[in-house]
Amino acid sequence: MDASPPLPRIRLLATGGTIAGAHKDGGGYESAAISTETLLEAVPGLAAVAAIEVEQVAHIGSQDMDQKVWLKLAATAQQALDDPAIAGVVITHGTDTMEETAYFLNLVLKTDLPVVLVGAMRPATAISPDGPMNLYNAICVATHRESATRGVLVVSNDEIHFAREIAKSNTTQVGTFKSPNRGLAGFVNRGRLHFFGPTVLKHTSASEFAPCELTELPRVDIIYAYAGMPRDLIDASVQAGARGIVIAGVGAGNMNKSVQAVCSDAVKAGVAVVRSSRTGGGIVARNIEIDDDRAGFVVAEELNPAKARVLLMLGLSRGLNTAALQALFTIY
Ligand code: GLU
Repeated sequence: MDASPPLPRIRLLATGGTIAGAHKDGGGYESAAISTETLLEAVPGLAAVAAIEVEQVAHIGSQDMDQKVWLKLAATAQQALDDPAIAGVVITHGTDTMEETAYFLNLVLKTDLPVVLVGAMRPATAISPDGPMNLYNAICVATHRESATRGVLVVSNDEIHFAREIAKSNTTQVGTFKSPNRGLAGFVNRGRLHFFGPTVLKHTSASEFAPCELTELPRVDIIYAYAGMPRDLIDASVQAGARGIVIAGVGAGNMNKSVQAVCSDAVKAGVAVVRSSRTGGGIVARNIEIDDDRAGFVVAEELNPAKARVLLMLGLSRGLNTAALQALFTIY
């Protein structure tokens, strides 16, 4: 008689990305070209770690990720997490927009169970693909009880990142992911976990946006600031129907005087304006070189532009005013 306990059940939600990519004749490669079953077969030892159930949610390179897929992914993940037989959820995803999807799910999934996103920088057919080890580590993290209540995590290159902190920092290298402000959630080496302290910020079961009941998200644009930036970029965004604009500002979220003036007009017209930074690290604080109180701006504090956009979309979907929107950036 076999007395060994049953393996933890993991629902693997596949969306595509380079982890499922294959080389094309002529040098390039195509995202989401191979099946998830083939991917799993390439990972030795996985069958001893978890009983894995695969569900294909999308079949895209993550540059094609959008709100529609986010909402579908959130609903599918929530359904899995609400199943008492499931120990955790793993999501395969391209690395280009991984940080946005991870942060969105961190805010909208009502769960204490582990949710782990995983991708790869090299396609499955590369000389030395990073996907199989990333996938092995991600499944190990998702099965581990220590991973619970930490919010959505991303596993890559032997590192465990918090969804809120992670950012892609390099176009091709396997060590692309960094968590520049608050640092890593931990390490994982061939399935052995070493966690650091949990985050003190709200997420998942403590999030006011979870579970996700939205059927659409408001339009929020990101506009990149630069020397000589013209003000008509802001006008174009407002005219296109944006309910919010995130400025990827220079330095500590700065923009030139003319852009400040047009942003302030946008606020008066009911469009929320959030100042973030294009630098990739550090804090955008209120009222330093720009009088945010007077202009009616919100500052993104530690959130990079892509993540500030996610939080602003959720805040606007609740109809929050400027002060309440600003508070979100301290809590989440
Ligand atoms: N564009 C691809 C994607 O994000 C490449 C990046 C990757 O998966 O590593 O899906």
